Amino acid sequence: MAGERTEPSAPRVNAHRDSLETAIARRTENAGFTCAHCGGTVPPLTNGSYRNHCPYCLYSVHVDRVPGDRASGCGGLMRPVALRGRPGRHPQLLHGCERCGAVRANRAAFDTAAPDDLDLLLALPPG
Ligand SMILES: [Zn+2]
Ligand SMILES: [Zn+2]
Repeated sequence: MAGERTEPSAPRVNAHRDSLETAIARRTENAGFTCAHCGGTVPPLTNGSYRNHCPYCLYSVHVDRVPGDRASGCGGLMRPVALRGRPGRHPQLLHGCERCGAVRANRAAFDTAAPDDLDLLLALPPG
């Protein structure tokens, strides 16, 4: 006697699964990271933005998690190359990817816990 029970075919719960994955991804983005360049422990931003570069060495990694950016699987280290200041605009840090050469502008982080290293920022050439 095989007491095999036929489960009513459960509907695939992709919607729930997707939302859970999205929630986990969002939590990961908010959880800070370990810098791939200097190994520093980078805490999440406390000003509502996503941290995308290290405040200690200013390096970033070429994985686009910023809304509006194209998804990129490059994974190269992004070196801080310049600081762009415009009147009335938030200063931006320009990053150049050491692997593929892409250049990205990212908001410098000041109004947060563990702000960007000011000495390093000011040592960069103007962009
Ligand atoms: Zn670093
Ligand atoms: Zn790249």
